[in-house]
Amino acid sequence: MYSANDTLAGRLAWVRERIAVACRRAGRSEQGVRICAVTKTHPAATVALAVGAAIDAIGENRVQEAAAKRPQVAGTVPWHLVGPLQRNKARLALELFDLMETVGREELADRLESLLATHERILPVFVEVNVGGEAQKHGVEPEGLEALLEHLRLRCPHLEVQGLMTVPPWDPQPERSRPHFAALRGLCERFHTAGLLAGRELSMGMTDDFDVAVEEGATWVRLGRVLFGERRST
Ligand SMILES: *Cc1c(COP(=O)(O)O)cnc(C)c1O
Repeated sequence: MYSANDTLAGRLAWVRERIAVACRRAGRSEQGVRICAVTKTHPAATVALAVGAAIDAIGENRVQEAAAKRPQVAGTVPWHLVGPLQRNKARLALELFDLMETVGREELADRLESLLATHERILPVFVEVNVGGEAQKHGVEPEGLEALLEHLRLRCPHLEVQGLMTVPPWDPQPERSRPHFAALRGLCERFHTAGLLAGRELSMGMTDDFDVAVEEGATWVRLGRVLFGERRST
């Protein structure tokens, strides 16, 4: 997929060009789209390269892996948790991540809230929505979103819900993801208007479907393979 002499800077420029094209098609400003570089399975040196390329955020899906890498990476780029979080890893996760994209259950939110409250720290989060309603997927189902957001508003004042995140059902045709992205945007508008979301961030779109996600309003795309090549096996 990549020639030996291509560079992260080159791939990033190509990704930014595709984002700009998708923005033009949708009549929106490319300023409104940020890139979370998902560095899972890649070494700390790769994370440092991404930080050096002025990426907007680093995304990792495992707390232990981030714990091994983050101390080796300098700089102030925020780290996002993009994978599921277990209650018993919440304390460590709070030391490593600046934003959690995968809040989808009350129990986890309550655990984060009690840890945050003792330090009077406010944590920006996204709520993960299982837009496809797949049994094996994480995230709250669309039908349960309002109740979860109400719970966060009433019980979790130290979680600032800046928006929504989703991973739609995998499909080789990116166009098939479009209705899921549009649905997430609809939920975001609705609950922002209702005062249940502090922001309108939409984290959606990965290597295979980010152009479509940007057309549907993504403010964050989470990109792994298109920036770093195939993942190493862990
Ligand atoms: C791995 C991962 C990504 C990046 O996927 P690519 O297809 O490599 O771009 C994005 N989001 C989440 C939640 C991931 O786990």
